[in-house]
Amino acid sequence: MLHHVDGERLWARLMAMARIGPVAGDGNCRLTLSDEDEAGRALLASWCTARGFALRRDAIGNLFFRREGRDPAAPPVLVGSHLDTQPTGGRFDGILGVLAGLEVLETLCDLGLETERPLDLCVWTNEEGSRFQPAMMGSGVACGILPFEQALAACDADGVRVADELSRHGYDTEPVPDIGPADCYIELHIEQGPILEASGKTIGVVTGGQGIRWYEIALTGEETHAGPVPMRLRKDPVPVLARLIDLVQEIGNRDPEARCTIGTVRALPGSINVVPGRVEMTVDLRHPDEAELNVMHDALIQGCGALAKRFPDIALEVAPRWHSPVVRFDATLAGQVKSCCERLGLATRDMVSGAGHDAFHLARRVPTVMIFVPCRDGISHNPREYASPEDATAGADVLLAMVLERAGACG
Ligand SMILES: [Zn+2]
Repeated sequence: MLHHVDGERLWARLMAMARIGPVAGDGNCRLTLSDEDEAGRALLASWCTARGFALRRDAIGNLFFRREGRDPAAPPVLVGSHLDTQPTGGRFDGILGVLAGLEVLETLCDLGLETERPLDLCVWTNEEGSRFQPAMMGSGVACGILPFEQALAACDADGVRVADELSRHGYDTEPVPDIGPADCYIELHIEQGPILEASGKTIGVVTGGQGIRWYEIALTGEETHAGPVPMRLRKDPVPVLARLIDLVQEIGNRDPEARCTIGTVRALPGSINVVPGRVEMTVDLRHPDEAELNVMHDALIQGCGALAKRFPDIALEVAPRWHSPVVRFDATLAGQVKSCCERLGLATRDMVSGAGHDAFHLARRVPTVMIFVPCRDGISHNPREYASPEDATAGADVLLAMVLERAGACG
């Protein structure tokens, strides 16, 4: 039998949540563990407790709202996402996965449907990584991937630590967070890209995530006056920067699935009439295939080596900073998402996530899958971010079907 969520209730909740920490142009600012983030969590908690879902908070601030199953000892089905946003974020990134999870739990209550397994609605702390780094912090700690102490010590730009904010909001400081055994984790999210919209499909069945490698590159020459020193006597790192930009673009353009981004470039001291003594930049490489990502890594390192030889006056340092391997979601779960969509009459396509998600961490501990719905013009991390009520509802319907599939409806 096909069940449907209450799309109007879901939409009303999305809009109610968006009234906390509003920014111009329909956006939201609920930075991790700020008063606004905490107010958003409190609003969710008020809806959950009104339905009798018990709340557990762990020591990194993750929230777990439980709807009991007939067998309370059975490993639960986990659904959820995050409520924090970028400084000028949208109303759907993360929030949809959380509020659709609540909608699923409530719909089961409305239908009087019991499940064999318990259901946990999860809210992960600091997915965005805007105020505190690294991103995907709460899920990383709870999955044993990010050391708890490292997360607690992370500071924002004003020197405020995660630990300070957690204690200010009254979170317990122990025990060390751990998700424990679970049947599976299912996360609904907006796509944050243009593919679903362009292909006219409602549901993206996410088979995995791109591998990501980050680098910091520094080019050191010598600062000098822009006037008196002839070109040939300068140790100017900027001409090397130009070749480096070409190198990175070439690596990205060789393969349609590759992504190469130079997100920051800084010339120091940064004065119009000073030849820079140093240039600092970052490189972000991504690919859905780990072997191909390694090829890109090698091309970057070798290309940098060749530039260092060609420009001996400039010291070129490449420091790898982060590596998130290619993620493969659970094939059985992905197959179940497809059959649920078929039953619901929703068109699907397989896709790989270009953005990082909490689900990447969960996938290393429990069978995991993500469900994408379209977002207008592929835009996110922007007040213009928008998912239609129809697509949000469709995504929540798939989540409901998946929960029933995995948790076992008892009638
Ligand atoms: Zn997100």
